[in-house]
Amino acid sequence: MSDLAMRPTSIIFYNNFASHLLCAYNPNMYYPGLPHRWSDEDWKTCVRMLAGFGFTTFEFWLEPRMFCREALDSDLGIEYTRQMNAVIGFTHDFGMKTELITGLATSGADWRTLCPNLDDEWRTIRFLWDAWTKRFTGLDSVGIFPGDPGACSRHGCTAETYIDKSVEIAGLIRRNLPRAEVEFHTWGPPFFGWGIIHMGPESRGEFIGKDQASAWTFSKERADKSMAHVLARLKDFPEGTVVAINLGFNSDGNPGGESDARAWAAAIAETNPIRTWDYSLTEGEGTVLPHYRFDRLFERRRQERDAAPYSGGICYSMTPMLNQLTAFEAARSFRIPDSDPKAVAEEFFTRLFGDAGREVVQYFPLFEAMPGWGSYQKCALSRDEYHGKMATLATILEDLKPCVVDTPFHPSVDEYRQEILFFARLCADLSGPSPDYDALRRAYWDRVYRIYDALPGHPDPRAQGATDELIRFFAQWQ
Ligand SMILES: [Zn+2]
Repeated sequence: MSDLAMRPTSIIFYNNFASHLLCAYNPNMYYPGLPHRWSDEDWKTCVRMLAGFGFTTFEFWLEPRMFCREALDSDLGIEYTRQMNAVIGFTHDFGMKTELITGLATSGADWRTLCPNLDDEWRTIRFLWDAWTKRFTGLDSVGIFPGDPGACSRHGCTAETYIDKSVEIAGLIRRNLPRAEVEFHTWGPPFFGWGIIHMGPESRGEFIGKDQASAWTFSKERADKSMAHVLARLKDFPEGTVVAINLGFNSDGNPGGESDARAWAAAIAETNPIRTWDYSLTEGEGTVLPHYRFDRLFERRRQERDAAPYSGGICYSMTPMLNQLTAFEAARSFRIPDSDPKAVAEEFFTRLFGDAGREVVQYFPLFEAMPGWGSYQKCALSRDEYHGKMATLATILEDLKPCVVDTPFHPSVDEYRQEILFFARLCADLSGPSPDYDALRRAYWDRVYRIYDALPGHPDPRAQGATDELIRFFAQWQ
């Protein structure tokens, strides 16, 4: 293995701004007139910050709400196209690239999965890939994703169907965007849901929330068979196709056991570049909080280094305006996997607030006390001790003054300080002697999720659930 093969060439910031992950810290790309829309200037500052952190690539999901015929000619779709093309331009201005990922076949605001084994639905899938890739001529990379949501079990669809149809779409991408790299995703157990997601005889591919878990059903026989099929078909993908494969075929990308993917990653790397797409490592999709999951993050980088010649991967975020520290740490984890995450955090806060910023670091991991998807840290403190430390953190944050920094930041450093201060006070109050949980629930909701007040009947219960979980966690902590 050459040094070049070891060097991460793609350090990707994946901002998932899908319509089910709306919050105050994520751009609202779907509801003009509601809060949290980003101007082009906001995007430019964000991209400049990411470039400064060391990211090489910005990634976004062309989510099903856009991946449909109706969106293409709608005002929303036209503005989305305009703005994402502007973002592509900003990434190039700052020496970065842009990658778009899309599920192979999931389409429309209701997240219906079209069946590639039905002629008319396959025509629609091809039409959508063709139309959308022609809209973003500046793209540097296009990823084909199995689903989550999405996947088909109708009309004989299996993981092999997803692989074979991806070969065809990859060819289409290469014809439309000859300079763009193609990335083929294995996400899931592997290939999320294909042939295994529960779809009754009446199904027309509708998204059914309660059936999503069936898409993760693991079988070693299926995994081996489908991965062998990938190996056999790699030669049919365009030259240089990258394969996204985690260390494990499970939702946390964990190696070990029957779902260990390391041998497959190494086998693919014999002929094609590989990357991780380790989604829950940084944030998960649960309660919005400042995160600090860095021991596991750096350990995962070292595991990847030991497993196969990975050439990068993603830092996922649904909160680019709150978890800038995570972005900074994640970029560093790819470049220097042996770094001490605490030292990296100190560097981050010292850059923003001078030496006084260093004080923040010892308290920051306490935000991770609440369990969530991808969070493995346990808080060893008593409730009283936790309360005392969070109150101290709030006091420190109150006094911090932003330095004049040459590292661009989005939003401003002082706005960032105020957001972290809000969460420090909230956690201090929630763990206090007799919290007014109703009032604190409202304060959290109004700060983080108020956009949902303007979206009555929004189908995704995630925001309500996440808020309830936060309150329940503290209410039950004796
Ligand atoms: Zn099908």
